[in-house]
Amino acid sequence: MRRIGIMGGTFDPVHYGHLVTAEEAYHRFRLDKVVFVPSAHPPHKLDKVITSPAHRYMMTVLATMSNPHFEVSSVEIDRPGPSYAVDTVATFRKDYPNNTALYFITGADAILEMLGWKDSTTLLRMCDFVAATRPGYFIADSKIAEVFGEHASRVHFFEVPALAISSTDIRARVREGRPVRYLLPDIVISYMERAGLYAV
Ligand code: NAP
Repeated sequence: MRRIGIMGGTFDPVHYGHLVTAEEAYHRFRLDKVVFVPSAHPPHKLDKVITSPAHRYMMTVLATMSNPHFEVSSVEIDRPGPSYAVDTVATFRKDYPNNTALYFITGADAILEMLGWKDSTTLLRMCDFVAATRPGYFIADSKIAEVFGEHASRVHFFEVPALAISSTDIRARVREGRPVRYLLPDIVISYMERAGLYAV
């Protein structure tokens, strides 16, 4: 039985919180690898200005390239229209043998909204969900049971201390000329500087 992690996110920009989450999920769920999937057009952000998918994809490649069990997929970048998770997981289902268990990894805030996502019931049948929480972000089992009902056992929450780092904060820091070093890999910072990302 193979076990593949699908690390979904906007990654604007990718930071150590994301990398630690992926590594922790790799270890906890005994995954064979974690595939980062930068979302091209997040359905809940269609009215927001986000950095171009090409830049976010490049930063994710640079941040993950030193880890042999991390990969980056352009599946959502290559697909036109909103980046629905159900379409992405269906692509993985098609590309990997039947005996592959899939784990969709992302932030807990996003997972708690999942029942509002496109074809959420189909999605819940296709994979398990790994929801990373920031420190102090407690979710009661009763809340998980209330939201996910019979699927609750397929949703796994875990705390990631490094998720005190956030992409929103990093963008604000760059805009305001405050330091971002040690919040994300140096190579990503160099890319951001060369491409002029996030500065006003
Ligand atoms: P978001 O709403 O920007 O993020 C919610 C929270 O989760 C933020 O605090 C974010 O922190 C954190 N987060 C995001 N991705 C993470 C990851 N992989 N690991 C740990 N924390 C993470 O979420 P998003 O990034 O736009 O979307 C998350 C995933 O859900 C994407 O794959 C997206 O395509 C999917 N999604 C699908 C649908 C749908 O199919 N209809 C709808 C919404 C979202 P940072 O800001 O620091 O990343």
